[in-house]
Amino acid sequence: MINILFLGAPGSGKGTQSENIIRDYDVIQISTGDILRKAVKDGTPLGMEAKNYMTQGLLVPDTLIVEVMSERLKAEDAKNGFILDGFPRTVVQVEALDAMLEKELSYKITHVISLEVPDDIIYERITGRRSCPVCGRVYHIKFNPPKSAEACDADGEKLICRDDDTVETLSKRLKVFHESTAVIKPLYEKRGIVLSLDGTRSAADVYKKIKAFLG
Ligand code: AMP
Repeated sequence: MINILFLGAPGSGKGTQSENIIRDYDVIQISTGDILRKAVKDGTPLGMEAKNYMTQGLLVPDTLIVEVMSERLKAEDAKNGFILDGFPRTVVQVEALDAMLEKELSYKITHVISLEVPDDIIYERITGRRSCPVCGRVYHIKFNPPKSAEACDADGEKLICRDDDTVETLSKRLKVFHESTAVIKPLYEKRGIVLSLDGTRSAADVYKKIKAFLG
Protein backbone atom coordinates (compact mmCIF):
# COMPACT_ATOMS: atom_id res chain seq x y z
CA MET A 1 0.00 0.00 0.00
CA ILE A 2 1.39 3.38 -1.04
CA ASN A 3 0.57 6.36 1.21
CA ILE A 4 2.17 9.53 -0.04
CA LEU A 5 2.60 12.88 1.60
CA PHE A 6 3.27 15.88 -0.64
CA LEU A 7 5.24 18.84 0.68
CA GLY A 8 5.38 21.88 -1.53
CA ALA A 9 4.42 25.53 -1.65
CA PRO A 10 1.17 26.55 -3.31
CA GLY A 11 1.90 26.35 -7.04
CA SER A 12 4.83 23.94 -6.71
CA GLY A 13 3.10 21.37 -8.93
CA LYS A 14 1.53 19.08 -6.31
CA GLY A 15 -1.81 19.07 -8.15
CA THR A 16 -0.29 18.13 -11.51
CA GLN A 17 1.89 15.41 -10.03
CA SER A 18 -1.00 14.04 -7.96
CA GLU A 19 -3.01 13.65 -11.19
CA ASN A 20 -0.12 11.67 -12.70
CA ILE A 21 0.17 9.41 -9.66
CA ILE A 22 -3.59 8.79 -9.48
CA ARG A 23 -3.55 7.79 -13.15
CA ASP A 24 -0.80 5.19 -12.63
CA TYR A 25 -1.31 3.95 -9.05
CA ASP A 26 -4.41 2.84 -7.17
CA VAL A 27 -4.58 5.80 -4.80
CA ILE A 28 -6.87 8.75 -4.11
CA GLN A 29 -5.86 12.34 -3.36
CA ILE A 30 -6.97 14.03 -0.16
CA SER A 31 -6.40 17.78 -0.05
CA THR A 32 -7.30 19.65 3.12
CA GLY A 33 -7.38 22.90 1.11
CA ASP A 34 -10.00 21.41 -1.27
CA ILE A 35 -12.06 20.03 1.63
CA LEU A 36 -12.02 23.42 3.37
CA ARG A 37 -12.83 25.40 0.20
CA LYS A 38 -15.83 23.15 -0.41
CA ALA A 39 -16.96 23.61 3.21
CA VAL A 40 -16.71 27.41 2.79
CA LYS A 41 -18.66 27.26 -0.49
CA ASP A 42 -21.36 25.06 1.08
CA GLY A 43 -21.54 27.30 4.16
CA THR A 44 -21.11 24.39 6.61
CA PRO A 45 -20.09 25.06 10.27
CA LEU A 46 -16.55 23.91 9.37
CA GLY A 47 -16.47 26.33 6.44
CA MET A 48 -17.72 29.21 8.57
CA GLU A 49 -15.01 28.60 11.16
CA ALA A 50 -12.24 28.14 8.58
CA LYS A 51 -13.07 31.01 6.22
CA ASN A 52 -11.34 33.89 8.03
CA TYR A 53 -8.11 32.00 8.55
CA MET A 54 -8.05 30.97 4.91
CA THR A 55 -8.63 34.41 3.42
CA GLN A 56 -5.83 35.74 5.61
CA GLY A 57 -3.44 32.96 4.54
CA LEU A 58 -3.24 31.63 8.10
CA LEU A 59 -3.48 28.04 9.28
CA VAL A 60 -6.86 26.79 10.42
CA PRO A 61 -6.70 25.51 14.06
CA ASP A 62 -5.30 21.99 14.47
CA THR A 63 -8.39 20.65 16.26
CA LEU A 64 -10.61 21.40 13.26
CA ILE A 65 -8.21 19.92 10.72
CA VAL A 66 -7.48 16.81 12.77
CA GLU A 67 -11.18 16.10 13.19
CA VAL A 68 -11.81 16.47 9.46
CA MET A 69 -8.89 14.24 8.54
CA SER A 70 -9.60 11.52 11.02
CA GLU A 71 -13.06 11.12 9.47
CA ARG A 72 -11.75 11.36 5.91
CA LEU A 73 -9.04 8.73 6.39
CA LYS A 74 -11.50 6.21 7.78
CA ALA A 75 -13.57 6.30 4.58
CA GLU A 76 -13.68 3.20 2.40
CA ASP A 77 -11.98 4.86 -0.60
CA ALA A 78 -8.81 5.54 1.43
CA LYS A 79 -8.21 1.85 2.01
CA ASN A 80 -6.11 1.25 -1.12
CA GLY A 81 -3.74 4.13 -0.50
CA PHE A 82 -3.75 7.90 -0.68
CA ILE A 83 -1.87 11.08 -1.42
CA LEU A 84 -2.08 13.71 1.30
CA ASP A 85 -1.83 17.26 -0.01
CA GLY A 86 -1.72 20.09 2.53
CA PHE A 87 -1.76 17.92 5.64
CA PRO A 88 0.02 17.65 8.06
CA ARG A 89 1.29 21.21 8.48
CA THR A 90 2.17 21.33 12.20
CA VAL A 91 3.84 19.01 14.70
CA VAL A 92 0.47 18.48 16.39
CA GLN A 93 -0.94 17.37 13.03
CA VAL A 94 2.01 15.00 12.39
CA GLU A 95 1.46 13.39 15.79
CA ALA A 96 -2.28 13.17 15.25
CA LEU A 97 -1.74 11.63 11.81
CA ASP A 98 0.65 9.02 13.23
CA ALA A 99 -1.89 8.15 15.90
CA MET A 100 -4.76 7.88 13.39
CA LEU A 101 -2.80 5.82 10.90
CA GLU A 102 -0.88 3.45 13.13
CA LYS A 103 -3.20 2.97 16.06
CA GLU A 104 -6.58 3.12 14.38
CA LEU A 105 -5.98 2.02 10.81
CA SER A 106 -2.64 0.12 10.70
CA TYR A 107 -1.43 2.27 7.80
CA LYS A 108 1.67 4.40 7.63
CA ILE A 109 3.10 7.10 5.40
CA THR A 110 5.40 5.28 2.96
CA HIS A 111 6.74 8.15 0.78
CA VAL A 112 7.17 11.89 1.29
CA ILE A 113 7.73 14.00 -1.83
CA SER A 114 8.99 17.54 -1.40
CA LEU A 115 8.65 19.78 -4.47
CA GLU A 116 11.03 22.70 -4.16
CA VAL A 117 10.43 25.92 -6.08
CA PRO A 118 11.91 29.37 -5.31
CA ASP A 119 9.43 31.99 -4.06
CA ASP A 120 9.81 34.33 -7.07
CA ILE A 121 8.69 31.55 -9.41
CA ILE A 122 5.81 30.69 -7.06
CA TYR A 123 4.58 34.31 -7.25
CA GLU A 124 4.51 34.15 -11.04
CA ARG A 125 2.76 30.77 -11.09
CA ILE A 126 0.14 31.62 -8.45
CA THR A 127 -0.87 35.12 -9.42
CA GLY A 128 -1.53 33.90 -12.99
CA ARG A 129 -3.55 30.90 -11.82
CA ARG A 130 -7.24 30.74 -12.83
CA SER A 131 -9.74 27.96 -12.36
CA CYS A 132 -13.17 26.94 -13.52
CA PRO A 133 -15.71 27.27 -10.69
CA VAL A 134 -17.76 24.42 -12.15
CA CYS A 135 -15.39 21.65 -13.31
CA GLY A 136 -12.31 22.72 -11.32
CA ARG A 137 -9.96 22.76 -14.33
CA VAL A 138 -6.88 24.89 -13.61
CA TYR A 139 -5.21 27.28 -16.09
CA HIS A 140 -2.41 29.84 -16.08
CA ILE A 141 -2.82 33.08 -18.03
CA LYS A 142 0.72 32.78 -19.43
CA PHE A 143 1.85 29.14 -19.18
CA ASN A 144 -1.40 27.29 -19.82
CA PRO A 145 -4.01 29.78 -21.11
CA PRO A 146 -7.55 28.75 -22.04
CA LYS A 147 -8.41 28.95 -25.76
CA SER A 148 -10.67 31.96 -25.25
CA ALA A 149 -9.38 34.65 -22.88
CA GLU A 150 -11.36 34.13 -19.66
CA ALA A 151 -13.52 31.05 -20.26
CA CYS A 152 -13.07 27.35 -19.48
CA ASP A 153 -12.23 25.20 -22.54
CA ALA A 154 -14.37 22.35 -21.21
CA ASP A 155 -17.62 24.12 -20.31
CA GLY A 156 -17.28 27.82 -21.23
CA GLU A 157 -17.70 29.00 -17.60
CA LYS A 158 -16.04 32.29 -16.68
CA LEU A 159 -12.72 31.49 -14.98
CA ILE A 160 -12.05 32.76 -11.47
CA CYS A 161 -9.03 33.58 -9.33
CA ARG A 162 -8.96 31.91 -5.89
CA ASP A 163 -9.61 34.38 -3.03
CA ASP A 164 -6.24 33.53 -1.46
CA ASP A 165 -4.21 33.66 -4.70
CA THR A 166 -3.60 37.41 -4.34
CA VAL A 167 -0.06 38.81 -3.87
CA GLU A 168 -0.80 39.94 -0.28
CA THR A 169 -2.26 36.64 0.89
CA LEU A 170 0.34 34.64 -1.00
CA SER A 171 3.24 36.24 0.85
CA LYS A 172 1.62 35.25 4.13
CA ARG A 173 0.88 31.73 2.86
CA LEU A 174 4.51 31.34 1.74
CA LYS A 175 5.83 32.52 5.09
CA VAL A 176 3.55 30.04 6.89
CA PHE A 177 4.55 27.34 4.39
CA HIS A 178 8.29 27.81 4.98
CA GLU A 179 7.85 27.87 8.75
CA SER A 180 5.76 24.72 8.79
CA THR A 181 7.95 22.81 6.30
CA ALA A 182 11.05 23.61 8.34
CA VAL A 183 9.41 21.78 11.24
CA ILE A 184 7.65 18.94 9.41
CA LYS A 185 10.23 17.85 6.87
CA PRO A 186 12.99 16.85 9.35
CA LEU A 187 10.51 14.62 11.19
CA TYR A 188 10.03 12.56 8.03
CA GLU A 189 13.70 12.81 6.99
CA LYS A 190 14.54 10.99 10.22
CA ARG A 191 12.37 8.15 8.95
CA GLY A 192 14.35 8.05 5.66
CA ILE A 193 11.29 8.37 3.40
CA VAL A 194 11.73 11.85 1.87
CA LEU A 195 12.54 12.60 -1.77
CA SER A 196 13.30 16.28 -2.49
CA LEU A 197 12.86 17.35 -6.10
CA ASP A 198 13.55 20.49 -8.11
CA GLY A 199 10.01 21.62 -8.94
CA THR A 200 11.22 24.09 -11.56
CA ARG A 201 12.02 21.18 -13.92
CA SER A 202 9.39 20.15 -16.46
CA ALA A 203 6.38 18.28 -15.08
CA ALA A 204 7.42 15.22 -17.14
CA ASP A 205 10.95 15.25 -15.67
CA VAL A 206 9.63 15.61 -12.13
CA TYR A 207 7.19 12.76 -12.64
CA LYS A 208 9.92 10.44 -13.99
CA LYS A 209 11.75 10.86 -10.67
CA ILE A 210 8.57 10.35 -8.67
CA LYS A 211 7.85 7.10 -10.51
CA ALA A 212 11.35 5.82 -9.81
CA PHE A 213 10.87 6.67 -6.13
CA LEU A 214 7.46 4.99 -5.85
CA GLY A 215 8.60 1.92 -7.80
P1 AMP B 1 -3.98 24.97 0.39
O1 AMP B 1 -4.93 24.83 -0.76
O2 AMP B 1 -3.35 23.65 0.81
O3 AMP B 1 -2.94 26.05 0.16
O4 AMP B 1 -4.87 25.42 1.66
C1 AMP B 1 -5.60 26.62 1.64
C2 AMP B 1 -5.78 27.13 3.06
O5 AMP B 1 -6.52 26.16 3.84
C3 AMP B 1 -4.50 27.35 3.85
O6 AMP B 1 -3.93 28.62 3.59
C4 AMP B 1 -5.01 27.21 5.29
O7 AMP B 1 -5.73 28.37 5.68
C5 AMP B 1 -6.04 26.10 5.17
N1 AMP B 1 -5.42 24.77 5.41
C6 AMP B 1 -5.30 23.76 4.49
N2 AMP B 1 -4.71 22.69 5.05
C7 AMP B 1 -4.44 23.02 6.34
C8 AMP B 1 -3.82 22.34 7.44
N3 AMP B 1 -3.35 21.09 7.30
N4 AMP B 1 -3.71 23.00 8.62
C9 AMP B 1 -4.21 24.25 8.77
N5 AMP B 1 -4.78 24.96 7.78
C10 AMP B 1 -4.91 24.36 6.57
